[in-house]
Amino acid sequence: MSLEKLYEIKKQWMPIYFILLIISIIVTLYLMLMYLYTANEDYVMYIMLSTLFSFYVGFNLVKLLRIKTPKYNYVKVLTCPECGYSMVKPMAKGDYLFKVEGECPKCKSSMHISALYKEKVKG
Ligand SMILES: [Zn+2]
Repeated sequence: MSLEKLYEIKKQWMPIYFILLIISIIVTLYLMLMYLYTANEDYVMYIMLSTLFSFYVGFNLVKLLRIKTPKYNYVKVLTCPECGYSMVKPMAKGDYLFKVEGECPKCKSSMHISALYKEKVKG
């Protein structure tokens, strides 16, 4: 599975797990209060179940939070058609393939964009 796919899953499931966690904590607290007021032994089992559920949801939430989301830099490669000199620059708005941009530092002829891509930021 790709990192981008994981990121998509993370975005989808995070709010759901978060809401579930809050609900299960509220339910657990409510059950605890009910147990304190009524002293009904039946609540103990429900408290245990909802506590387990809270832990399960919390565990999943932590797992989702630990997924590192990849960051990308969008770059362009400028190539000189005369001498073959090339350099990498950050991509700017309105850049497209074969766009003429800048001049070659070696032979002073005009350079063009020969590639556009994204590269993963390390760290
Ligand atoms: Zn050149």
